[in-house]
Formats: sequence, C-alpha cells, structure tokens
Amino acid sequence: MNASIWAHPWDLVDEGPEAVAERLDDLGIDTVNLATTMHSVQTLNPHNPERKTFFADASAYFQPDESRYGELTPDVNETMGEADWVGEITDAFAGSPVALRSWTVPFHSSKQGRNHPDATMRSPFGDSLVWGLCPSNPDVQEYGRALAADVADARDFEAVEMELADYQYGTGYGWHHQEFFTELGPLGEFLFGLCFCEHCRANATDAGVDVDAARESAQDALDARFDGDLAADTDVGGWLAEHPAVRDYAHVRRETLSELLEDFADEIAPADFTYYLKMGGLGDDRMGIEHSWKHGLDLDALSGIVDGVTVLAYHEDPTVVRDDVRATRTMLDVPVTAGILAGHPILDSKARLRSQIETAVDAGADRLSFYGYGVLPERNLEWIGDVLDAIE
Ligand SMILES: [Zn+2]
Repeated sequence: MNASIWAHPWDLVDEGPEAVAERLDDLGIDTVNLATTMHSVQTLNPHNPERKTFFADASAYFQPDESRYGELTPDVNETMGEADWVGEITDAFAGSPVALRSWTVPFHSSKQGRNHPDATMRSPFGDSLVWGLCPSNPDVQEYGRALAADVADARDFEAVEMELADYQYGTGYGWHHQEFFTELGPLGEFLFGLCFCEHCRANATDAGVDVDAARESAQDALDARFDGDLAADTDVGGWLAEHPAVRDYAHVRRETLSELLEDFADEIAPADFTYYLKMGGLGDDRMGIEHSWKHGLDLDALSGIVDGVTVLAYHEDPTVVRDDVRATRTMLDVPVTAGILAGHPILDSKARLRSQIETAVDAGADRLSFYGYGVLPERNLEWIGDVLDAIE
C-alpha cells in the first residue's frame, strides 16, 4: 500500500531532511506531502529538537519567482527569511527513495486577506471574510495560476496537492478567537460564507440570476436565524428549493471554479494535480463529501480535471472512514487517497490506527496519507510503521 505523510517544513529542516527521509523509508512511508504555502498555523512538535511549538502566519515556505505574479504575491514566511526551506528539503530528498508532493493551500490566508481586502470573499451583508480570497476575483485567479506554476516548476514534485482553492467554509475554520455566540447551523454557515463580492455578483448576473433577490433572501434568513425565527437545523436543500435565486447563485460558482481548477492542472502538468475534499472540522463537526457543492465544487467536473483526490476522513469511528472512502470512490472516477489523522483527538492506540487503516483499504482506498510527521509523537509514528508492516 502506498503511504504518504503530511509534513511542515520546519520539522524536516530542524531534524535534518536526510535523516527524516531515512526514518520515513524505514517506517514504510514512500511520499511526503510537504507544505509549501499554508494558512496560519500553530503546531505542537513533540520530537522536534529545536522548538516544541511553532506559529506561522499564513505564508509560503519557498522563495517565489516574483516575476510570475501580479497584484498578489506569496507572503514569504517571516521566520524563514532569506532561506528556502522547500528548496533545502527538495535538494536533500533528491537521492532518497521517498518522493515529494507539494501541499499547497492557495486561498485560505488571513494575511493576504488583511493586505488585499478587495480580494476577499464578502458575506451577504458585504463584510470582508478576511480568511478567504475569492476564486471569482481575477487578481486571485492570476495569483493561483502563478502559484501553481511556481510551485510545480523546477522543484521536482511528483504532484501538487491543493487544499481550499475553493469558496471556503462560511465561518473560517476558527483560530481567530472567534466569538460566534449564535448557533448558525448548516444553513446559516453556508449562507454566511456565500460570497457576494463584485465578481461573484457579476458572474451570476451574466448567468441570468436575480442577484438582488438572492442577496436579500440570504440576508433575511441570517437575520431570522440571529433572531431565533429560523431553526438552526433547517434543511439546506429544502430551503434552497424554496429560494431558487440563492440556489442558482451558488451554482454559478461551480463553473467558475471548475475553469480555474482546469487552469491549475495545465500550469502544474506534467506533474499530477490532486485535490483535497473536506467539509468542516474534525469528528462530528465534519460532513461528507456530498457537501462539497457548498464550496462551489462540481465533483463530476473535478473528476475530469484532477489526477486524484484525497478525502480527509478524520473521524474516530471507522465506519465513517469507510463511508467517506466509498462515497468518494462512487462520486469520482479518479484514484482516492484516504487521509487519516493518526493521533489525538481521533485515535489513541495502535489497534485503533490499524482499524482505521484496514477500514480505508477495505473500502477501496488507493493510497493512504497520514497526518502528520512533526505533530505526531514518536510513539504514533512507530504505530504507523508497525501497522504498514503488518498489513503488507
Ligand atoms: Zn466572490
């Protein structure tokens, strides 16, 4: 079974990338999904010899080719400075049996959002959703294409794996000490994050959608939710059927996004282009991939664009992992990687890890990917090695 592991560059640089490559090879891991551009993150690094925690503002971990970019350029990581972590790691892995993939998060950046408020998604009320650049914005599209090509060229990645290059979740995934003391519920979450920036509105107008009606319906529903006049568990599909302007408005985004993802595939070729499917957070907060349309993703179209998908099956219950993998195989006609969070809060023993892995493999996963190298304790890394050894 092909097995990869996600990694932040600081853990590889701090431990010595050659040593990490050897260690991973011993564990039966054949690929590292290396973060190249990420959202803001604070990690706990149990086995890092230099730092037990690291905070990174949303940033890039390589030196970009500035000549490729327009209005928006990558924010080079402040701690990295003049160095090039990705370059150091790709050089060190060149002679190793462990392959590298780029794990690229292009549009989920509160730093870009703060610096480019005209490029962010806008709530139905017009507020800037600072954590997400809008994929309908031509400047954002240009940035995404340039980033895809910059990451793919001259770095010898076998694939560029993208996460959150879409219309993101309405409440922003939470790290900003959010004070959302009203339960929005699935409909409220969706509507709050439905982008009404000038570009999304123009695209919908061109497609014949009554944008003013869509916006008014979204605002009215959110106001009703705030006032307690609309139930938190209101069925999203049923509500949309009664509000066709909102439904049509949301669906226009699918074509916009599919065209952009096609561009990314062209920029990334001949390397593979793969995409991550997830909704929401961990455990019971996450939802199945059938909710991908809320991100503007058209899974039929995606199947024709990408070389593979990764379903982030982060749930303690193996039957949910099974359902995630099966649903992904059913809904897309490309190889499926099962993403498994190999530690807290999803699992706490080798037996439970083995159950998750066996369930994913039995459900038809073509590859496995584990989260994550630097954030897992040594003990959990040993579990991965033992289980991979046992199931081969
Ligand atoms: Zn927009």
